[in-house]
Parts: sequence; C-alpha cells; structure tokens
Amino acid sequence: MTAGGWLEGLHGGMSARLIMDSAAPPSCSRVSLQAKCSCSREAVSSMLKSFEAKDRAEMVKDGKVVVTCEFCSSVYEFTPHEAGVEEGA
Ligand SMILES: [Zn+2]
Repeated sequence: MTAGGWLEGLHGGMSARLIMDSAAPPSCSRVSLQAKCSCSREAVSSMLKSFEAKDRAEMVKDGKVVVTCEFCSSVYEFTPHEAGVEEGA
C-alpha cells in the first residue's frame, strides 16, 4: 500500500503541473506579439545547461553560442562561458 500511496501522490503532482503549464502566465498575455511563446534568456540559458557538454561545445560559432527560438524567432546570444562550455577542453 505504500506503493499505491506513492503513485497517487505522483499522479496528483503531475496533474497540478499540467494545469500550470497550460495556463498562460498573466504577464505574457499582455504582450500580444509574444503571447504564444514564453521563452526568455533565462529559460534558454537553463535549457543550454541541460545539454551534454559536447553538444554545447558544438554550438559555439565565432566565439559565441546563438540560439534562435523556433516559436517566436527570438535570437539569444551567449558567450561560451555563459552557455557552460569549457573553453579549451
Ligand atoms: Zn520564443
């Protein structure tokens, strides 16, 4: 019965998270052009840091990492250091 309680807790947590993800953040809905995209420099940066080190290293071009959002075409530029790339490695 401990396993059942664990599953129930997990499921409840997932439901709450899905509801949060589908609800548009109030601050974004006021910006008409970007209402459908919630990307930000911080979000892109944390996404970069979730990549494998070798994948991040491959993204470095001309001494910088440029990420273009596929949804709103926003362009974010990072230094290799900001992207978590170990220079010279
Ligand atoms: Zn975006």
